[in-house]
Amino acid sequence: MGQLVTIDTNLDTNISAPPPVKHYQAYRPNPFTREQRENTTLLFGGLTWKHERLMQGALHNLKYKAEPLPNIAREDLDAGKELIDVGACCPTIFTTGSLVNFLKKEVAQHGKDEVTKKYVYLTAGACGPCRFGQYHESYAMALDGLGLKDFRLFLLAQDELDQGETGGGGLEINLPLSLGLIWSILCGDVITDMEYATRPYEVNPGQTDAVLKDCVEYMYKVFNLRPDHGKKLGTLAWHLTTNYFTKALREVRKKWDAIEVDRTRVKARVKITGEFWLQTHEGDGNYNIKHWLEQEDSEVVPPPVAVWLHYLMHPVIRQLEHRHSTSNHPKRDEMVLKAVERLYVGTYNRFRKALANIPNELPDQVELKDLAEPFYHFELRGGEGHMLIGKALYAYHHKKAHMICELSPYSCMPNTMSIGSMANVIGKYPDLLYAPIEVKGDAEVHALSRCQMILTEAKKRAKAEFEEVLKKTGIRVEAIHEYEKHHPELRRATYKVPHKGYSGTSANYVLHLAQDRGLARA
Ligand code: SF4
Repeated sequence: MGQLVTIDTNLDTNISAPPPVKHYQAYRPNPFTREQRENTTLLFGGLTWKHERLMQGALHNLKYKAEPLPNIAREDLDAGKELIDVGACCPTIFTTGSLVNFLKKEVAQHGKDEVTKKYVYLTAGACGPCRFGQYHESYAMALDGLGLKDFRLFLLAQDELDQGETGGGGLEINLPLSLGLIWSILCGDVITDMEYATRPYEVNPGQTDAVLKDCVEYMYKVFNLRPDHGKKLGTLAWHLTTNYFTKALREVRKKWDAIEVDRTRVKARVKITGEFWLQTHEGDGNYNIKHWLEQEDSEVVPPPVAVWLHYLMHPVIRQLEHRHSTSNHPKRDEMVLKAVERLYVGTYNRFRKALANIPNELPDQVELKDLAEPFYHFELRGGEGHMLIGKALYAYHHKKAHMICELSPYSCMPNTMSIGSMANVIGKYPDLLYAPIEVKGDAEVHALSRCQMILTEAKKRAKAEFEEVLKKTGIRVEAIHEYEKHHPELRRATYKVPHKGYSGTSANYVLHLAQDRGLARA
């Protein structure tokens, strides 16, 4: 027989109640009201100083006080590491550290209350599978650590141009703001392309940088004086049809005309790819690698931000094409989106044309997807997704560069995947020169020496193709310089050298002189 179980009803009820559960709450900024706008400065950053200055013009035009954060410096890495989680990727650490260092200085001067009132931080947001979707959490953690819990930061979603008023009405994310920022980014891109296509060949050292500075200031004014065309369709129509920006870029072209170049200098052409922030950045955050490459006798092909914005349209187009969308009118939506894409690329091409077509064209997104397809599926989102594979193969097949330098952040999941896939690509295309550079922020010598190894081979190729063209055409370098004396337009930075099937600028230049300008064998 089993024993009867008795229940003791005299249990001690004197157990202290558990502490209340503190649930996780996502960061929510305090309101930024319309009345505060005149006395509050929007802080922003993350691109190059050129893009940021033009964006500042667009924000000033809408009567916002706006200021870019100082360019990223090595100390920002340490400040970021101190305050956010240890596994964060290097762009998150750098950008958070940059905000932290700025705020620390301001607090030391004005005190916490004043800084909390005086500034708000505006950053791009996403719901990406990588840490990009969590940037704001890192910022919130750092603000907490600084004792600035009430400091306000706002996210600009990348896929919505008209988000209306945010938390209090101080910031209105509407079409004039979004289009002003996008147009300033596109202009920043084409001017940056001019810069990198010119500086390696400039005859008078420092001239490109001086003209660049002048042009960026000029374009700042252009954005600051942008005419008002309302908040809705009027402003959209105006941005898409106006010649206001192309006229301004033609002025930039005139200023650029003054730069004398020598395109017989043989340079290795290096296409920069990689994680968005790291490839765009110019400074300590990526060991100043673009500047270093130029010092090492290279011509850098910089990555335009415009390619990223173009890429953002494509997942939606793919979903509509494959009827994976919840839209009630997928066919109509697909047509509308493809029309928007054509307008976008058309606008970029108008800007390029105003600068003599020297800025590079945007790669076709479908081609990038198709090139990457055997190695990396386009639905694997995060970071630049399949684009890293697609861009490397695009440059290789179209002979746009001698080598690819892929900047990969330490602790970045999407980039780790793309580097893994590139091993397969290199197996199929062993002569593709590819330098994957892991950037931690504090291992410069290691990273640059890795790049140097591939660059040495790229330089050999650049030299070999130049000599091949000289031999094929029978033209001597002295004869080219003699010819240029009678045709001074050839020495202008705005003279467009057509692509003649070689990766290097100097080889294309010689072939162009022989085939199109009639420079004959000596
Ligand atoms: S792509 Fe990589 S480096 Fe960039 S935010 Fe995402 S995880 Fe960080």
